Amino acid sequence: DVDALVTAARDTGAGEAEAASRNEPWPNDPYPVGAERYASLRALLAGDLAADDVVATLEASGLRGMGGAGFPTGRKWGLVAGAEGDLKYAICNADESEPGTFKDRQILADQPHLVLEGLLLGMAVIGAELGWVFIRHEYGPEERVLCAEIDALREAGVIGPDACGSGRRLELDVFVSPGGYILGEETALLECMEGHRGEPRNKPPFPGGYGLHGRPTLINSVETFADVPVILQRGADWWGEQGKGDSVGWKFFAVSGHVEHPGVYCVPMGTTVRELIDQAGGVLGGAAVEAVQPGGASSNFIGPDQLDLALDFGTLAEAGTMLGSGALVVLAEGTDLLAASTNVLRFFRNESCGKCVPCRVGSTKAHTLLRGVLDTGTSTLDETQRARILQLEEAMRKTSICGLGQVALGPVVSVLGLDKGGAAAREQPRQPDR
Ligand code: NAD
Ligand code: SF4
Repeated sequence: DVDALVTAARDTGAGEAEAASRNEPWPNDPYPVGAERYASLRALLAGDLAADDVVATLEASGLRGMGGAGFPTGRKWGLVAGAEGDLKYAICNADESEPGTFKDRQILADQPHLVLEGLLLGMAVIGAELGWVFIRHEYGPEERVLCAEIDALREAGVIGPDACGSGRRLELDVFVSPGGYILGEETALLECMEGHRGEPRNKPPFPGGYGLHGRPTLINSVETFADVPVILQRGADWWGEQGKGDSVGWKFFAVSGHVEHPGVYCVPMGTTVRELIDQAGGVLGGAAVEAVQPGGASSNFIGPDQLDLALDFGTLAEAGTMLGSGALVVLAEGTDLLAASTNVLRFFRNESCGKCVPCRVGSTKAHTLLRGVLDTGTSTLDETQRARILQLEEAMRKTSICGLGQVALGPVVSVLGLDKGGAAAREQPRQPDR
């Protein structure tokens, strides 16, 4: 019984104190227990809320894509709404597969109504009738939660040929990924849904203009869609007030590695790395921090002198790393960072789809070199080996088609630049100024 196993695994050691430290029930949910949900969707379909106002509110809120890249959500919705064509689609990307990243899974399990309302709002705003949740194949229990919610929506007439009595057709379905990390890349996801081999396309064109079957397609991640009804119900100003300092809104983080209470935490954007580690019970056994990956396996490591950095897109980008997929991985003092980062590279090498040479060959060459060094019992590269890794990293970063190849060697290189007194100063690939 998969559900029982998952529940048991989740409950292991997760007592009341831990749930409280994770601040459950989640502070973002705008619908009190017993309140009628899907209120913003109903208002939009009834004509009490204009599609333009939805886009304007999202723009005013400063909401950015939580899948990792942080593209402004209001701008994306406006672009797809304005794209030519009367046939459009919307897709929620729930193929969460970045190592250390499991916050979308928790959102799907606990707040499927927010995810689906966000997706339906997106469909209504851009003028799409069909929407999908593309879900990771290992997320069976969450898929069942989603399907039950969709069935209930259909039963209640919220979706269907006459959604909420509006005369508009809105249909939802769940598409289970056949598996493979790269399918979470949005254009590989589209290829997969079209029945092709799951390899990324060159971008541009972006899916917002040329997406599923060449039609304009709105793609956002689970957390991004879930944030939309929160903002519409509580207002852009409220959202802005939730963040710390200049940061806006709430942010879900998966915290893992050497911490006392790994799990999913919902904290104000702008919370510092140190505060989040403390909220997760601190480093295992009270040890010091050796290094942290603040944004999942793709993000550059930061050192112990950077724990007061705010977890925010801009601050982390300026520090040479990124917020990425919202996955804080903590490594305690004494961890072999070259071995840890080589392990990350091994994952990317294995998951490379092989479409482009720099990623396919470069990741294998780099891994072979590093593995060879580690197998001799040392964690130090000589000058020739170091230069070779830097050369491979630059080639892959500059010439790979998609994010996988562009970031695969970033964590390794960030470790080469780390020392106890100073952090990695390598540029994180592709951190757009948004
Ligand atoms: P990207 O910058 O190419 O695009 C981000 C989003 O903005 C996409 O939806 C894209 O279509 C849109 N976009 C960008 N420029 C646009 C434009 N000019 N017009 C219209 N739309 C535009 O980034 P990406 O390659 O899609 O994502 C990379 C990120 O994914 C990484 O930062 C990484 O953190 C993250 N990631 C997440 C996971 C996970 O499991 N959550 C896994 C791997 C990677
Ligand atoms: Fe495939 Fe790697 Fe090229 Fe991305 S960078 S398209 S994963 S080979």
